[in-house]
Amino acid sequence: MKKHYEYKEGTIDQKFIPKDFKFGYHCEHCGECCRHIQAADKALLSVIDVYRLAKSMGLSHNDFIAKYCDMVPGSRSMLPLLTLKTRMDGSCILLKSGSCSAYENKPLACSLFPLGRMLFKVDDDPKDDRMDFRYFLKEFDCKATTEEQTSAQEILDEFGIEEYDECMKVYTRLANFSTQLMHNAKSDNERKELFMLIFFLLFVKYEINIDLQPQIEMNLAYLQSIYKGQAFDKASMN
Ligand code: SF4
Ligand code: SF4
Repeated sequence: MKKHYEYKEGTIDQKFIPKDFKFGYHCEHCGECCRHIQAADKALLSVIDVYRLAKSMGLSHNDFIAKYCDMVPGSRSMLPLLTLKTRMDGSCILLKSGSCSAYENKPLACSLFPLGRMLFKVDDDPKDDRMDFRYFLKEFDCKATTEEQTSAQEILDEFGIEEYDECMKVYTRLANFSTQLMHNAKSDNERKELFMLIFFLLFVKYEINIDLQPQIEMNLAYLQSIYKGQAFDKASMN
């Protein structure tokens, strides 16, 4: 089958769809896409995914990451990236008895499928830093059927995705600022130290019993305060 989690980095000529646009898609929950995950198809986790999953399991971010995640360095961003672990047979670590054991809190890349989304500035005015998501349809050639109609809004509602949209916007600013710092680092040593600090601020320094957004804002403010005058934080990313 086609890659389930195609990473569309830099793809800005997508045909975007309005959220109420109806299309034929119904997942048959066969679990096939969770069974044979190739390295290139692994879904990247954001802190929102980690927070929701860790909270649903009653684990700290640190314990959840140690038990369920792998960390890889991003080639373009140079940032630490997190994915869910896979077993020796290529199945996702959260696949149990043929279905997702974290269904309601599964990562955004899993819950959003077959949609993709990108974050754009609402207005070209540099003083206006509002951002919004735009959605597009991915191809699928798995057991999902096309007879039943659904819409982006129905998928967003089913998994409570929009509840975390503001978090994702702040998190995007934190990730963009971190990327700039990594690219501006003057030596390998500086880059290594930054890498560990950024990993901590992107994924680890969070409490599951406190609202997520203020925690991301605090981590962004901390990074900005110690790297004053460097980089910027307003670029958009998907
Ligand atoms: S998190 Fe759930 S839906 Fe996503 S790949 Fe793993 S088992 Fe499948
Ligand atoms: S029908 Fe497609 S999307 Fe749904 S579980 Fe099976 S392979 Fe995955």
